[in-house]
Amino acid sequence: MNRRDLLRAAGALGAMAALPGGAMAQRNLEGAFPTPTKKYRRITTEEAFATLPQLNGFRDIGKYLDSGSDLSFTQTLLGDSSYARDMTPRLLNLGEGRIKEMDEGGIAMQVLSLTSPGVQMFSPDTAVAIARESNDILAEAIRKYPTRFAGLGAMAPHDPKRGPAEMERAIKQLGLNGFIVNSHTDGGYLDEQRFWPILEAAEALDRPIYIHPRSLPETSLAPFRPYGLGGASWGYAVETGTHGMRLLFSGVFDRFPKLKIILGHMGEGIPYWVYRFDHMYNTAKRNWGTGSLKEAPSFYLKRNMMITTSGMFSEPVLKYCMEVVGVDNILFAADYPYQDNREASAFMDAAKISEADRIKMYSGNAERVFHLKV
Ligand code: MN
Repeated sequence: MNRRDLLRAAGALGAMAALPGGAMAQRNLEGAFPTPTKKYRRITTEEAFATLPQLNGFRDIGKYLDSGSDLSFTQTLLGDSSYARDMTPRLLNLGEGRIKEMDEGGIAMQVLSLTSPGVQMFSPDTAVAIARESNDILAEAIRKYPTRFAGLGAMAPHDPKRGPAEMERAIKQLGLNGFIVNSHTDGGYLDEQRFWPILEAAEALDRPIYIHPRSLPETSLAPFRPYGLGGASWGYAVETGTHGMRLLFSGVFDRFPKLKIILGHMGEGIPYWVYRFDHMYNTAKRNWGTGSLKEAPSFYLKRNMMITTSGMFSEPVLKYCMEVVGVDNILFAADYPYQDNREASAFMDAAKISEADRIKMYSGNAERVFHLKV
């Protein structure tokens, strides 16, 4: 083998990249996943953007609500590290730059949401104002690119009057497609009665609430700080999965039976625990008379929740979730710009599943739950 052949062989070997979980997808020689060639209407559903009012809020507000590690994350976005120089302009871009990256990943449409922690570090007055301005910016981008963008409305969960009012405006006036909540608000969770007006509005407007991760509250963060476990590797899932479990166990889905909640990252661990939490719920009910749900907790997981593939491009996890929560409850998502559109598409294109199931997750389920034009 001469030198050129050796280099070619080494290049070909390097081009095979193992996806987590064992599925293989082809990377090009630069180590990037190629633009997919198969034609699907790929709709990604957890795709972040930022607005200047939001970034100015991060810069200007002196007093934050309980924000855990989100405070340092938002200050990073405002800084001049290489991470910020890469990420912040891409978050702010709601035009051709974003669409070029979508095209490279074979993404037909992004369902956009204001990047975490949204407006939930701000006092209610500030949160209400920034949510409103950001929703207007989002709606303007969708008007300009109606076939490429849809979006989830931000609101202040901690304002029981103006939060729901903004939700109504987002759907009825701006034509948005659902709502974004970044897990806890100042340590509070949506099952608490003070947040019921938010759940009631979502159900009445027939649009889902996407519960996106954010940092654990400061009071819970200490054990996660060593080894950097507070973020996307583990802490976000603990925080957001706990939020989802509270909703499942609280009875809010008996009170709001048509409410739809979406969780990213293949359900933030909840699908893995179905056997155990049903078993423990039933055991406690039998022995101590606790629990007042009309059904087992897993019933509500299947009826009232959906999950997405955001940032979890693992075929074994996908197949497990299809079996446990059902293909009709799974949406495709990339988690742009924090993760790679092309890797997301390579993962879903390569998954050994039926074409009918793939199309449901790529587009059919999103078209249904977000009321997108087909
Ligand atoms: Mn995300």
